[in-house]
Amino acid sequence: MPLDDYQGLRVIVTGGASGIGRATARRFLELGARVCVLDLRPEGAPAGAEQVEVDLGDRPATTAAVERAAELLGGIDVVVNNAGISAVGDVTANDDEEWARVLSVNVTSMARVTSAALPHLRRSTAAAVVNMASIASYAGLQERVLYSATKGAVHAMTLAMATDHLPDRIRVNCVNPGTVATEFVDRMLQGFPDPVAERAALDARQPTGRMVTPEEVAETVVFLASPRNASTTGTSVAVDGGMYGLRAR
Ligand code: NAD
Repeated sequence: MPLDDYQGLRVIVTGGASGIGRATARRFLELGARVCVLDLRPEGAPAGAEQVEVDLGDRPATTAAVERAAELLGGIDVVVNNAGISAVGDVTANDDEEWARVLSVNVTSMARVTSAALPHLRRSTAAAVVNMASIASYAGLQERVLYSATKGAVHAMTLAMATDHLPDRIRVNCVNPGTVATEFVDRMLQGFPDPVAERAALDARQPTGRMVTPEEVAETVVFLASPRNASTTGTSVAVDGGMYGLRAR
């Protein structure tokens, strides 16, 4: 991909202060884009990115944060809806309060951010939205009922948004990472009696023998956001080290 595809592209990345979002923000910056990170704790954003502190679970605060990002960048061409939180357990594990919280951060926040960004995206000649789903949206992961429900919703919402905004020339796609070595996984591992053994087991379960890196997911996000990718909309790309497609090996 020629670098000039990204020169001056105005990108907002939610959850861009850690893990996949940080790697994505960094990659866009390397390619010459202008980036604003929206995060609960934005100070972890890569150098060179604008930062806006926000709880994406709060609609008025999110709308204001997107407007602030548009001011800082002079508009918005690309929205990367990446922020998300984990939830572990079978169908008995999470109470209604937790269901509401995780749905709000993982699903509704993407609708909040995208609807606030829509007037800017409509004015852009390179408009794209990339939503972070997960192979949990279709792979039947063990003890991830609530998390999987949210990611299935992200996947379905991506298709519906792509349909609605086709006339606006706003492309909407999603990425389905497998197990990515980020702080998100570190926190999840702390829930196991032996986190070190569990990490080794996680690596061993990958067809490639190791977890996916945040940088590998970032590469797919920038690919989907490329203005040259003008015919790619309403689809998903897995970045899972073959975890799903090669499961019968
Ligand atoms: P991470 O925990 O490393 O980073 C998430 C970021 O989102 C953090 O900076 C956090 O502060 C921010 N955030 C969380 N809640 C927020 C809120 N309410 N408002 C604003 N910011 C908030 O996570 P990660 O592993 O980089 O995951 C990023 C995305 O990728 C998530 O949507 C996750 O579900 C998805 N994903 C991760 C994996 C994995 O294995 N790590 C796999 C598949 C999908």
